[in-house]
Amino acid sequence: MWTLWVNAGAKELANMPLVLLQYTAILGIVGLVLIAYRAAPAPAQRTQYVYGAVLGVAGYLLTLLVAEFIQSPSKPYIRNDLLFLACLLGGWRGGGIAFVLLVLARWQFGGSAQMPAATLDLMLFFASGLVAHWVVRNRSVLELRWHHLLLVWLVRVATGLLSVGVIALLGWLPTSLVYQVTALRVFGALPALALLAGLYTLFRLDAQHHVLLQRERDRGQLHPLTGLPNRRAMLDHLQSLFAETPARPHTLVLLESANYVEMLLAQGHSWADSMWREVAAHMNGAALPHTLSTCRPRVFQFTDTALAVVLHGVSSQEVEHKELAQALHHSLHLIWREAGNQPHQPQLRLTVTPLHSPDHTTAAEAMRDASLLLQQRIDLGEPVHFFHRGFAQQAALDSVVLSQVLQWIDTGQPPMAYQPKCHLATLQVKGAEALLRPAPIDGTPISPSHVLAVAARHRLLPALEWSTVVAVVRDAQRCWQESPGLSLSVNISGASLSTPGFAERVQALLHDAHLPPSTLTMELTESSPLPDVASVKTNLRTLHACGIAMSLDDFGSGYSGLSVLAHHPFAEVKIDQHMVAMIDVPRMKSAIQIALDTARHYDARFVAEGVETEAQRDTLAGMGVDTGQGYLFAAALPIQDFLAFVRQSLLPRQSALPLPA
Ligand code: C2E
Ligand code: MG
Ligand code: MG
Repeated sequence: MWTLWVNAGAKELANMPLVLLQYTAILGIVGLVLIAYRAAPAPAQRTQYVYGAVLGVAGYLLTLLVAEFIQSPSKPYIRNDLLFLACLLGGWRGGGIAFVLLVLARWQFGGSAQMPAATLDLMLFFASGLVAHWVVRNRSVLELRWHHLLLVWLVRVATGLLSVGVIALLGWLPTSLVYQVTALRVFGALPALALLAGLYTLFRLDAQHHVLLQRERDRGQLHPLTGLPNRRAMLDHLQSLFAETPARPHTLVLLESANYVEMLLAQGHSWADSMWREVAAHMNGAALPHTLSTCRPRVFQFTDTALAVVLHGVSSQEVEHKELAQALHHSLHLIWREAGNQPHQPQLRLTVTPLHSPDHTTAAEAMRDASLLLQQRIDLGEPVHFFHRGFAQQAALDSVVLSQVLQWIDTGQPPMAYQPKCHLATLQVKGAEALLRPAPIDGTPISPSHVLAVAARHRLLPALEWSTVVAVVRDAQRCWQESPGLSLSVNISGASLSTPGFAERVQALLHDAHLPPSTLTMELTESSPLPDVASVKTNLRTLHACGIAMSLDDFGSGYSGLSVLAHHPFAEVKIDQHMVAMIDVPRMKSAIQIALDTARHYDARFVAEGVETEAQRDTLAGMGVDTGQGYLFAAALPIQDFLAFVRQSLLPRQSALPLPA
C-alpha cells in the first residue's frame, strides 16, 4: 500500500514541471482575458463564453500535444482542471463550450478506447465545476475569502476521487489500477490548489484595480466644493435621458440665490457649500412634497453658484400647471425658516425650462442652452420663472427688448420713474433716484437689469444711458420749477463714464436746460471693474469741477469698493438693499457701520437703499444714517406722482407714510 502511494507520489513529482508549466500558461491566458476587458468591461455573459472558448481551445490543443499519454493512468496534462475552471468562471455557458471541445479532442486524438470512462470523468468535472461556480456566483472576488477557495478546491479533489470510484464501480477501470489512479489524483490535486490561489490573486488584483478606477471615476463626477454630482455627472445622466425611446418629457429647474453674495459675505464660504448640500439633501429627503418626489428629482451642482434639478417624466407646462416649482421653492424656504434663520435666508430663484427643446438635440447642447439661460440671467424679482420654449424664448424676448431700447435711444424717451430718497427722521424728501421702468412684454415683466444686459450685449449701453440722462434732465426741469433744491439721480455705468467728452455733454445739457448742476446726481453702478482709462478720470474730474455730484452705488457689493472711493471724489455713498435686509445679522451690521464710517471719512453723504421696515429705519437712524430709500417710503413713481409725494412730505408730520406701490 505504502509503496503504491510512494510510487504515485514519485510519478506526479516527475510530471510536476510539465503540469506547473501548463498552470502558468493558464494563469497567463486568464491574465490576458482580464487585460483585454480592462478598458471596456464586457457583459457577464460574454466573458463567460470567452472563458469557455479560451480554456476549451487550450484544452483541445493540450490534448493534441499529450495524445501519446492519453491511455496511461498518469497524464501530465490538466484537462480536468481546464474544464473545472471553464465551469467555475464561465458557468454552464463557458463550461458547455469547454466540455464539447474537450470531449471532441479526447475522441479525435485518443480514439474510442476508454471513451465512455473519459466522458463520464469530464461530465463529473463539468458538474462539480458548476457547483463551485454556484458557491462563488453573485459574490465579488473581493468578498471571497481563503476558505471559499479551499472549498472550491475540495470540491475539485472530491470530484476527482468520486470519478475514479464511479468508473471503477462501472467496471471501466481494472481493479489493479484503482488504487494507483486514486493516489495519482490525490497528489495531482495539490498543484491545482496553487493554480486556484494564483487565479484568486489575479482576479483580486484586477478587482482592486477596478475599484480604484471606479473611485477615480466617481471623484471626477463630484463637485470639488460641495461634493454633489457635477456637470459631468449631469451630462452622463442627460445623455441617458436623450437616448430614451420613446422620448419622455423631462424638466430642468435651475436654482440660484438672488442674495448669494450678501449671504456669502455675512455667513462665509462654508455656508455657501453647505447650503447647496442642504438643498440636495432636501430633494432626496422625506420632507419633499409628494408631488415632487414622484418626479424623482436628481440634483447636480451646475456651477459654483447654481444647482440643476432634473424632474423626470413631467413637462415644464405640467410643472407650471401643478405649481411644482412653487412647491419646491416653498418647501426649501420652510427648511431654512424652521432652522430659525429667518430673515437671513437665501432668496432662491428658480428657472424652469424643458429638457427637450427644438433648439437642442443632444444632452451637451441642452447643458449649453441651460448655461446661456443662466448667463443671460435676468432678475425678474419673482422666485420662479418659466421658459417653456427654452433658450429660444429668452432670445425672442431679448429681441423685443432690443427694439425698444433702440426706440428709446432714437426718441430720447426711456420710461423713467423716481424713487424718493428721504431723511430717515423727518421723512423729508431730499431727492430721487431715476429708475428704468419698462412695460411688460406679452405679460412678462421686464426688469431694468434685463434691459441693461441686452443693451450691453449690443454695445448700446452708453447710448441708452445717455437717453436716460436726457429724460432725467427734462424731468428735473419740472422738479426745479415745483421744488427747487431737489436733486434727481441718474444711474450710469463705467461704459458711459469712459466715453470721452461725456462730462462736457452733461454739463452742456444742464446749461441748455437752464438748470444748476446741483439738480443732477450721477450714480455709478458697477457690476464690473471701473475701466482704468484716462477718460474715466477726466470725466469724473470735470463732473466734480462743475458741481455735478457723483454717487457710488451699491458700495461694498460687487466691484463698488474702497479703492474707487479712495481714488475719485464721490459726494454720496449708497449701500445695497441686500445689506439693509440683513442688518440684524451682527456681521452685516458691522459691514454697514464700516461703510458709514468710510463715507464720513471721505465727506460723502450716506444713503441706505431698500429700507422696508420701521425696524430697519430705526436701526439705521440709530447708527447715524440720515438718508434712506425704499418701499417703506415709496417705490419708484412716475414724475407727476413723485412731485405729489414731495408736496405731501412737506405737509405737517402727522400724515401717514405712503404705501409702496
Ligand atoms: P440700484 O441703482 O441699486 O437701484 C435700487 C434698486 O433697489 C432698484 O431696483 C429699486 O427698485 C430697488 N429697491 C428700491 N427700494 C427697495 C426696497 O425697499 N426693497 C427692495 N427689495 N428693493 C428696493 P431696480 O429698479 O430693479 O433696478 C435694479 C438696478 O438696475 C439698479 O440698482 C441699477 O443698478 C440698475 N438701473 C435701474 N435703472 C437704471 C437706469 O436708468 N440706468 C442704469 N444705468 N441702471 C439702471
Ligand atoms: Mg442706483
Ligand atoms: Mg443700489
